[in-house]
Amino acid sequence: MSDAAELKVLNPATEEVVATVPAATEQDVAAAVARAVRAQTGWAALAPADRARLLRRFADTVDAHTEELARLEVREAGHTLGNARWEAGNARDLLHYAAGGAERLLGKQIPVPGGWDVTFQEPLGVVGVIAPWNFPMPIAAWGSFPALAAGNAVVLKPAETTPLTALRLAELALEAGLPEHLFQVLPGHGHIAGRALVDHPDVAKIVFTGSTRTGREVMERCARLVKPVTLELGGKSPNVVFADADLKTALDPFSFLDNAGQDCCARTRILVQETALEEARAFLADALAAVVVGDPADERTGMGPLISAAQRDRVRSYVPDGAPALRGSAPDGPGFWFPPTVLTGERHDGPAAREEIFGPVAVLLPFTDEQDAIRLANDTPYGLSGSVWTRDLGRALRVAQAVRAGNLSVNSHSSVRYWTPFGGYRQSGLGRELGPDALTAFTETKNVFISTEGPAQ
Ligand code: NDP
Repeated sequence: MSDAAELKVLNPATEEVVATVPAATEQDVAAAVARAVRAQTGWAALAPADRARLLRRFADTVDAHTEELARLEVREAGHTLGNARWEAGNARDLLHYAAGGAERLLGKQIPVPGGWDVTFQEPLGVVGVIAPWNFPMPIAAWGSFPALAAGNAVVLKPAETTPLTALRLAELALEAGLPEHLFQVLPGHGHIAGRALVDHPDVAKIVFTGSTRTGREVMERCARLVKPVTLELGGKSPNVVFADADLKTALDPFSFLDNAGQDCCARTRILVQETALEEARAFLADALAAVVVGDPADERTGMGPLISAAQRDRVRSYVPDGAPALRGSAPDGPGFWFPPTVLTGERHDGPAAREEIFGPVAVLLPFTDEQDAIRLANDTPYGLSGSVWTRDLGRALRVAQAVRAGNLSVNSHSSVRYWTPFGGYRQSGLGRELGPDALTAFTETKNVFISTEGPAQ
């Protein structure tokens, strides 16, 4: 574990240093939280319409910097340019959605005897967001923007490998007129700055996205302070393909190669009905060979590099030399490359089939019938997302209901839309982000009873 005073941000496609950023200390975190506490008081006192107006201005500022943000994400995270542009657009759209939510964050009036009863949704105070490196910009946005809209301040710790887009978002927030210190970004090491944020008594909630291992530690530390926590953790999502499906769409290799497979929703367990297995294998062999792996800033590139040498080594450990597999190609030389790979000789209960690899590696497994497909789809400790492909609507719905995961798609690989809830079952996490309840998750509910029977005698 490094405790270097500076973080070197590398371009994962070239291994060149893109920037050097100071790493926040525990004292820096404490000072940032103190500033956030002060900023939040004024922010929460604003009329919701005024908060919404400022957030919409922030959205417009992000929009005006889409290309700059996208190119920064390409350089620090190795995302393809097309994906990075989508991510900047997603941050902008979420700001608009959250701004609308600020104006509609309503309490309830509950009929009770002897008086009136009303509830209020009050902001929590300061929210700590800990983001990973796989989607630096969207995950910074999902954790922070609904929290801001609900009247909170945010202190965000990005991953040490990818702090740049989050830092730029914080600058753009100021440029748009958001109050100083309302949205602060503190790059730093997880075991120093991340822990300090989790342990700080004035941080009212933690939103953590990352590995199940670190998520478990964050939850244990939050428990000591009875601090609420949202956890978005790993996944090992099934892609259940029945023989009657349109195989070409169902087996789109980007269902697990997007972002070089560093995607918690990647469909890395490809479950194909055995009668279609040979056709699937032939299709995937051609599809992997056709994936263009290389410079993520080139618009023709389909897949970029992995984030780091450590991540590449981790991915490699799941693909022993000589393992039966379908393989694409990857560049040699500088950069953290790994070829698109589908392992074809794995057991359904082996490590590559059950553990989150977080790289461009999937396993191909046959199933016999609907019950077998459901059994295999659920046979991991995770439950984040998954797809089911069939022309039989009844079967599609039965499988979608039976798979224990937070985000299922029927005849689609889509998982994340800012207007629908996102989160996992079992070891994939706790709580939900995005969707209609995104703001409520950053509030406390206060109940007030008003007697209509006069003061007690
Ligand atoms: P981590 O879960 O360790 O990192 C995620 C974030 O948590 C980073 O900002 C990290 O900081 C921070 N962090 C680390 N330790 C602590 C701590 N003790 N307290 C508070 N915050 C902490 O993931 P890794 O980067 O180590 O990746 C390892 C594996 O995790 C990947 O191979 C992948 O399988 C999985 N992963 C899953 C993600 C998902 O979205 N499901 C996202 C990222 C990783 P720092 O950058 O300094 O380590």
